[in-house]
Amino acid sequence: MTEQQVRKVVVAGGGTAGWCAAAAIARQLGALVEVVLVESDAIGTVGVGEATIPTIRTFHQFLGIDEREFMRATQATFKLGIAFENWAREGDRYIHSFGEVGRSTWMGGFQHFWLHGREEGIAGPLGDYCFELQAAERGRFATGDGATLNYAYHLDATAYGRFLRTIGESSGVRRIEGRIRRVERDSESGLITALALESGERVAGDLFIDCTGFRSLLIEDALQTGFDDWSHWLPTDRALAVQTQPTGPALPYTRAIAHAGGWRWRIPLQERIGNGLVYSSAHMEDSAAHDLLLGAIDAEPTSDPRLIAYRTGQRRKAWNANCVALGLSSGFVEPLESTSIHLIMIGVTRLLQLFPFAGVTPALRDRFNDLARRELEAVRDFIILHYHLTERTDSSFWEHCRTMDIPDTLASRIELFREGAQAYQASDELFRVDSWLQVMLGQRLDPQGYHHMGQIMPRERLRDVLDGLRADIAAAVDAMPAHEEFLRGYCGDRIA
Ligand SMILES: Cc1cc2nc3c(=O)[nH]c(=O)nc-3n(C[C@H](O)[C@H](O)[C@H](O)COP(=O)(O)OP(=O)(O)OC[C@H]3O[C@@H](n4cnc5c(N)ncnc54)[C@H](O)[C@@H]3O)c2cc1C
Repeated sequence: MTEQQVRKVVVAGGGTAGWCAAAAIARQLGALVEVVLVESDAIGTVGVGEATIPTIRTFHQFLGIDEREFMRATQATFKLGIAFENWAREGDRYIHSFGEVGRSTWMGGFQHFWLHGREEGIAGPLGDYCFELQAAERGRFATGDGATLNYAYHLDATAYGRFLRTIGESSGVRRIEGRIRRVERDSESGLITALALESGERVAGDLFIDCTGFRSLLIEDALQTGFDDWSHWLPTDRALAVQTQPTGPALPYTRAIAHAGGWRWRIPLQERIGNGLVYSSAHMEDSAAHDLLLGAIDAEPTSDPRLIAYRTGQRRKAWNANCVALGLSSGFVEPLESTSIHLIMIGVTRLLQLFPFAGVTPALRDRFNDLARRELEAVRDFIILHYHLTERTDSSFWEHCRTMDIPDTLASRIELFREGAQAYQASDELFRVDSWLQVMLGQRLDPQGYHHMGQIMPRERLRDVLDGLRADIAAAVDAMPAHEEFLRGYCGDRIA
């Protein structure tokens, strides 16, 4: 496609995506390529994106980030999972934790033993056999010294952008403040050659990373890549976000509370709570969403509610010509499972692995796009699962979700689990069997059968195994401090 060697990377946009990309490229490849980032303070960032999943820790290690420093700078708290309330039925509650559920064997998953144990009346709720879930339920947390909790963070998105910027600039990224007015392209090859700024400055480069958020200035406005709309499967298209004072100790999990037209998030940080209402504008008026959110929060707002409109779907090619889109410009699946920051980080990692030093080629580009597409489609299916497996009939929104057609890929997974409790993690897929299991059962998908290996152990032996597992987890949780207490000790006196 281009013989032109990549010596200079231009990152357009300085939100979480822009600074993640710029910092990682400069830190890993700074000796080989120059990295420039253009952003506009006048435009600002989307300002949401505060719940994460455990893969963020791997990315931080890769950037050499000190955990305490990061947590102090971003008001971060620890996150062990998400509590889903009112999803299958009003009044229901389950936690999708980051933990392993029970112990599996090579032949199959723990669920088969658990289902047999349940039939025999000797198994407790599934969550009794998951360490992270029990720690979350009891508000406990510890890390280091042999503690093995799998965790992520809640963080302040704006502070996180600033934090990543410090890392990027100290790794050699040159930041240019200014508004991009025009994207220049070569008339023959169609490749992007430069960003023309309102100031008159022209920022030329070899490879361009589009991190301009929903505006998608390079990948869509300039290159007209196209977008696959998924709103027929995921009909929410708006969020209202507002911050409140904390009303008690920070919970080590996110709350996702379903309502008649979508769901509401509650994300505890060290010194404030992030709240938001996600809804479908086809099923709920903005004014009703506003009243619902302000009526549901449990403290005085400390910011004005902010409306964010979005479109769910995927850019047809995340990498088109010499432009790679990362973050919101590459597509968006709503924040129910806090996957967007992960997708940015995995996208950056993949770009580093496939970096086009000798020039952009179709083979590199196609490989990148194939992996990005498969990954986002699997995330999409997992999110649809939460909406589709509902028994709610109380609103047109839930009627739509319950009765809508779903992707074949998801329909076959649901059938597989319904028939015989079989669940799997496909290659290149983010969510593990533990996640599918917790959400499918939490959404009341009750399997009609299970693998008969679940019956192999004699009843007494199975009871001992299940009881032992539960007791070990309970003892480990007992030994841990309260999340708030641990946080205070870990991050110092910043916490109120
Ligand atoms: C309602 C909602 C809730 C979310 N919650 C979560 C969550 O809990 N967890 C999670 O992982 N993700 C979440 N996300 C996604 C997350 O917010 C984004 O993935 C993340 O913030 C990255 O955004 P971005 O950097 O792509 O875009 P932005 O933050 O919008 O940044 C765009 C950048 O481009 C710059 N820019 C734009 N136009 C120009 C121009 N003309 N000239 C110069 N600069 C320009 C802007 O100044 C800015 O710096 C959520 C998203 C939404 C909408």
